[in-house]
Amino acid sequence: MDKRPFFSHLRCRECGRRYPKEAVHVCEFDFGPLEAAYDYEAVSETLTREKILTRPRSMWRYRELLPIEHEPTVGLQVGFTPLIPAHRLAQRLGVEELYIKNDTVNYPTLSFKDRVVSVALSRAKELGIDTVACASTGNLANSVAANAASAGLRSFVLIPADLEPSKILGSLVFGTNVIGIHGAYDQVNRLCSEVAGKYHWGFVNVNLRPYYAEGSKTMGFEIIEQLGWRLPRHTVVCMASGSLLTKIYKAFNEFSKLGLADPGPFSIYGAQAAGCSPISTAVKNNTEVVRPVPKPHTIAKSLSIGTPADGYYAIRTMKETGGTAEDCTDQEIVEAIKLLAETEGIFAETAGGVTVACAKKLIESGSIPRNESIVLCITGHGLKTQEAIVDQIGKAKLIRPNLKEFEALVEHALQAS
Ligand SMILES: *Cc1c(COP(=O)(O)O)cnc(C)c1O
Ligand SMILES: [Zn+2]
Repeated sequence: MDKRPFFSHLRCRECGRRYPKEAVHVCEFDFGPLEAAYDYEAVSETLTREKILTRPRSMWRYRELLPIEHEPTVGLQVGFTPLIPAHRLAQRLGVEELYIKNDTVNYPTLSFKDRVVSVALSRAKELGIDTVACASTGNLANSVAANAASAGLRSFVLIPADLEPSKILGSLVFGTNVIGIHGAYDQVNRLCSEVAGKYHWGFVNVNLRPYYAEGSKTMGFEIIEQLGWRLPRHTVVCMASGSLLTKIYKAFNEFSKLGLADPGPFSIYGAQAAGCSPISTAVKNNTEVVRPVPKPHTIAKSLSIGTPADGYYAIRTMKETGGTAEDCTDQEIVEAIKLLAETEGIFAETAGGVTVACAKKLIESGSIPRNESIVLCITGHGLKTQEAIVDQIGKAKLIRPNLKEFEALVEHALQAS
């Protein structure tokens, strides 16, 4: 590795004050969030399209733009998920050029959270931290548990007690300490902040948040590379805290600034479930003030954050790029999950249903034009949220093991279709 560090310091998003590269996340002066800052001149001297193409197909091929000091040690295989030209879904939505960024197959825990966790835990190891923890709506817990297990770190994951059984099981299996809390995510998060003040652990989305959040950029870098170093004109992203959306924006800007993406305009759109839509509601009311949702109620539990930490910045991002926000009902989420599955063979969790449902509405309302490129970010796998659709996808047809019953059934099916 070169002597000159690419990752130079942490910086307050509000006042610009510099902070050392430690496990800190808020500015002491204005409580602004801290963000990783880079020496872009040093990065541009090293990182070229040609160099990226020679590297292993993982999120770490953009390593100079990630906030670690040495080579990564956790999650080396994470990322580089498929970008799929979605012709059949495009036809159904009435658009010309549509792609799915498919993070339902991210390694190892089938959601985009593997990206943020591999950065947070790689950095945690550099900082000498031996116990990691998180407040989670499910997917983050799964990824912290799995990656901590393989990295030999102790882990604690704090979740709302009423999460989907598959998300709870998907943490327990890794032998982590799962703590279910009677309360909503915001209460889980508040408890985590208190615990973080007392124990010297690495909370991936509290004191390690500046590192964690940067991992989301790799979804944006990959989209550009997989489109042939081109920016998508329109990108739709589902929002919980709003962090992923702001980091896709940062990724598009960084690749543009470094000359790695062909220059061009782009717009970013945020998607939420109507049962927890603090960010999209603010956008629709044309305000930058996010009103908390004290009791979220939606099948999109992974997006159920009533007080979104990056809500304000997400709103600014949508505004600055000429995008907007949309929300959808639980029934629309279920329809969208089925639409994506039946047209593209991709089984997304409820959050993916939110992205597809909101994209459909944005296209129908004319917010997204039909003749320009569109990318939908699908962030988690449907096997983790089966209860959301189990009653709405029909049942297997049962017969006895003989040809006669089979033929009767098939004749019936063929006539119906
Ligand atoms: C966490 C999560 C998101 C969004 O996360 P942000 O907090 O907005 O960065 C989107 N989809 C899934 C499946 C998630 O688990
Ligand atoms: Zn500050």
